[in-house]
Amino acid sequence: MKNINRLLIISLIIFLSSITNIYGETKDNKDIHNILLINSYDIDNKWENSINDGFKESMKNNPNINIKTEYLDIRNNNNEKYLRDFEKLLNTKYRDSNFDMVVTIDDEAFNLARKGLLNKNSIFYKKIIVTTGVSELISLTSEEKEYITGFMDGRSKIELIKLITRLQPQVKTINVLIDDTNYCKDIKDKLLGNRYLLDDHINLNFIEAKYENEILEKIEDMDENNEALLICGVFKDKNTYDYANSEEFISKIKKIKHIPIYTSREDYIGKGVIGGYIDMGSEYGKSLGKMVLKIYKEEGISSVPFINRVGANYMVDYNQIYKYDINPSDLPEETIIINKKPYDLLITKNERIQVYLIIIVLLITMLYIITMMFKHRKNNIKNKKLYNIAKEREQLKTDFIVNMSHELRTPLNIISSASTLLEMKVNKNEKVEKEYILDKVERINKNSNRLRRLINNLIDITKFDSGFYECRCKNENIVYVVEDIVFASVDYANEKDIEVLFDTDAEEIITSIDKEKIERVILNILSNAIKFTNENGKIEVRIKHDDKFVYISLKDNGIGIPKEKVDQIFHRFYQVDSILSRKNEGSGIGLCIVDEIIKMHNGKVEIDSEENKGTTFEIILNLSNDDRIDDDTDNKTDRNINDAVKIEMANI
Ligand code: ADP
Repeated sequence: MKNINRLLIISLIIFLSSITNIYGETKDNKDIHNILLINSYDIDNKWENSINDGFKESMKNNPNINIKTEYLDIRNNNNEKYLRDFEKLLNTKYRDSNFDMVVTIDDEAFNLARKGLLNKNSIFYKKIIVTTGVSELISLTSEEKEYITGFMDGRSKIELIKLITRLQPQVKTINVLIDDTNYCKDIKDKLLGNRYLLDDHINLNFIEAKYENEILEKIEDMDENNEALLICGVFKDKNTYDYANSEEFISKIKKIKHIPIYTSREDYIGKGVIGGYIDMGSEYGKSLGKMVLKIYKEEGISSVPFINRVGANYMVDYNQIYKYDINPSDLPEETIIINKKPYDLLITKNERIQVYLIIIVLLITMLYIITMMFKHRKNNIKNKKLYNIAKEREQLKTDFIVNMSHELRTPLNIISSASTLLEMKVNKNEKVEKEYILDKVERINKNSNRLRRLINNLIDITKFDSGFYECRCKNENIVYVVEDIVFASVDYANEKDIEVLFDTDAEEIITSIDKEKIERVILNILSNAIKFTNENGKIEVRIKHDDKFVYISLKDNGIGIPKEKVDQIFHRFYQVDSILSRKNEGSGIGLCIVDEIIKMHNGKVEIDSEENKGTTFEIILNLSNDDRIDDDTDNKTDRNINDAVKIEMANI
């Protein structure tokens, strides 16, 4: 029924084409050539179509060549009657056409044209036949040779079998999957004919089928460890009667068995097969085109004899050769490798692992070297910093020694010269004024106090360092403590005409402190304020408090401290002015002791200073009532506050 429909359609086309000429107007021009191209298969057959495409592409620069294509569709209609009917239809359709050449693709089309070559009633009568895919086993009569040329189909699949056994020596049985076409039959004949070229232990097993499920059933019984597949045919889906999708077909096979798969057909390459010896359809078509043009140019086929098929190549899929552990160095040199990225290496799986390991080791080494370099740099920076700190310390030490000698020598000189003067007077029995003696004694006392202050400070610093300095806290009214010190110091400030103001937001603020230590702190800051404030200056001492803290601020409008030096004044032995240029005495220890004492009280000292404007120190202490010692073990001292002030103010 299907065939009858087909015949009806073809008859209609023939009728229409007999009204007009099948190639359009008859052209007398002898440069116009008409070619009838007959494909053995149907329009969906990929490989033959790629020949068609290659052939037409090589013809595209020759507008004087017309090509008419017919599809024999032998896969669907492989029987004598159909072939006869098809021949009849062609004879009717092209009866009046003036094609001068028949190009046949594959055996069936060739056989059809050859049949009519010497038959006066055939449209093929004495037409030039250029054929492809014809078995090399055909023999032509001398008369036929005058009209027939083309490509012998080498189809040397035995080489492919040899390649399979070389790439995978464990393979002992190769299952060749063929369909019912002459192409496949020819492969079978050749392989059997050349069987003697293979090792005896290699077993060739031909599986002929029309539908893919017949093949899938057979695969279930195969041993994937020593069997391989060689797909030469195309197979149909039993449900749809369409050609099975090659990729799906391969994946179905793989789901059943991890068997190595090779092919002779271009359309399976890249779809999961390892590779094969592939007839490149388009390349083949191009060579065919070249041959046709040569025949037209040289007017005849005598100069264009049969040649062996071209355009076949070994092709493998890079991804698959690794999946099946194949050594790429076993591949023939001219092999085309698909799916290989430019940076992919052509080495075995083991070598690849080794390369990866080397790369990883190299990367780790590089990473190690880089981190070491960074570490080294970091160490260098750290060492440099340490070196600078050490250098600074060394400088401080030197400054300290120079400073100390000066600090010790000056009062000592004054003491000794005052006592020498007094001694001289006594020795000379001179009458000495009372004021004169008192002046010298005062000098001696004042400078003794300077020395005492210095030595006290040095002892305290040493105590801090050795951890022996301790605070003995007890609840005190801090307002009184500060007020007493301030009032005891007023006279010293007045000597420089410095006004001292005292202000507090409460008369009584009780907190736990070591009274003597806090007195020292206030005294030190106050003595600095007097020392670094010019005559007619002003010093303001204020006490404020809130729920948690008490704030004691000591503000002067003296010389101030340069911004860049403010942070350093709490450092031990630091003095803003160098020993050579400074106007005031000092050792640079006082503020360091202040800081340590306040820290021991869990408080802090803040400083705000501006050069030539003045300086403000603010002491912030916790408001706590937790006596840390009993009242009995009170830190009662029999020291007189005035003595303490005298000592502290001695170097003003
Ligand atoms: P010193 O015994 O030298 O006074 P300090 O540690 O008490 O040592 O002070 C360190 C330095 O801080 C002083 O030498 C001085 O340069 C600076 N300084 C301290 N208080 C003031 C202030 N009120 N005004 C200006 N400079 C000050």
